[in-house]
Amino acid sequence: MALLIKDIYYLPMTGTPQLKKGSVRIEGRRIVAVGDIEPRWGDEIIYGHDKLALPGFVNCHCHGAMTMLRGFGEGMPLSEWLGRVQPAEAKLNDEDLYWASLLAQTEMMKAGVTCYADMYFGEENAVWAMEDSGIRAVLGNGLVDNDGLGEAHLRAALTMVDSCRDDLQGRLSFALAPHAVYSCSEGYLRDIAAEAAKRDLPLHLHIAETEDEQERCLRMKGKRVLAYLRDIGALDRKVFAAHMIHLDEEEIAIAAAKDVRVAHCPQSNMKLASGVLPYSALKKSGVTIGLGTDGAASNNDLDLLEEMRSASLLQKVTSGDATLLPPAEALAMATREGAKTLFLDDRIGTIEPGKLADITILSLWRPHYYPRNDVNDLVSHVVYGGKNGDVHTVIINGRVRVREGRCVDLDEGRIYHEVQKRAAKFWAR
Ligand SMILES: [Zn+2]
Repeated sequence: MALLIKDIYYLPMTGTPQLKKGSVRIEGRRIVAVGDIEPRWGDEIIYGHDKLALPGFVNCHCHGAMTMLRGFGEGMPLSEWLGRVQPAEAKLNDEDLYWASLLAQTEMMKAGVTCYADMYFGEENAVWAMEDSGIRAVLGNGLVDNDGLGEAHLRAALTMVDSCRDDLQGRLSFALAPHAVYSCSEGYLRDIAAEAAKRDLPLHLHIAETEDEQERCLRMKGKRVLAYLRDIGALDRKVFAAHMIHLDEEEIAIAAAKDVRVAHCPQSNMKLASGVLPYSALKKSGVTIGLGTDGAASNNDLDLLEEMRSASLLQKVTSGDATLLPPAEALAMATREGAKTLFLDDRIGTIEPGKLADITILSLWRPHYYPRNDVNDLVSHVVYGGKNGDVHTVIINGRVRVREGRCVDLDEGRIYHEVQKRAAKFWAR
């Protein structure tokens, strides 16, 4: 049976946003036709009246199961925040991680996110959650060796990757995720990069989130973070990195030369007072930039519509240039460029025949979408005014996973109940 989204406004995001009206036909996991299409007998039809279809949003950096610690460690800079959050994380068991991952996936899907990149421990629990929710993800167990257990962490991560026999109909892929240069030794980073190269997996890490990270790297290695990572061979293959805030000119040139892709997390950066992405310089150098939410303990939600808005507004207010990061660029970062950041742009990120069918449909029957005149109005209304409550339907891998704002395969009440019950132990003093 095919799925037909009939007579809908859509932004294919294959280039500069162009508003089109037509139908999208999906067979199996893929988009097979876009344009003027008549329904066939037996098609399931989604009527597009008063709606807008976009490529599903791609969240390029998340710690999904941190939803269990939402709001934990408020009002702290990164170093203090880590000191509060990490001891709490050590108490998370497998069932906690499953329910917290499922809460994260539910929250993202209801906000139109169809794919996310995750870095956390116990990611096999996120796989169980993915089976239930239907979301697409690039998972990577967070790797550190400053706890003396680096080898065991890496072995567990590789076991998960190498023994995985079910990619959940192509929805599941992996990265190796060394946490950061301050939590991984040089030898450990080299080992991880070598294992990633053997398996053609991307590296997913935090880079240059704070000035302190740069100062420590200079003190211990005599180099800034990107120069250090380049010199130990960690940037020779696929790499995407969260934050990339405190970079000098040489590091921006390294990022461009080594094709280090950026997961920009504006709300987390603002909340932890980490700083502002050097967007103009990175963009001028041709660096690929997607958007991420980071974890729910430093955000506090997992909503790419908000990240689009924050990214755009943050660049304007800090540069004094109202033309910087216009809405069309923000929308591309949340869709096509996000897919590219995760090295998935051959599969997702646009609405065109041949791509996997990851599509988010917004209801335009909302006050904040009126009045509108042309494509630019609609793009700016979505970026500056769009809310997760506008998300009407979400299709992932060709299947409807959210219908009229509700996750069709999940018991949302059960998820809230389980997480609430389990969170009590973290808040107990
Ligand atoms: Zn992070």
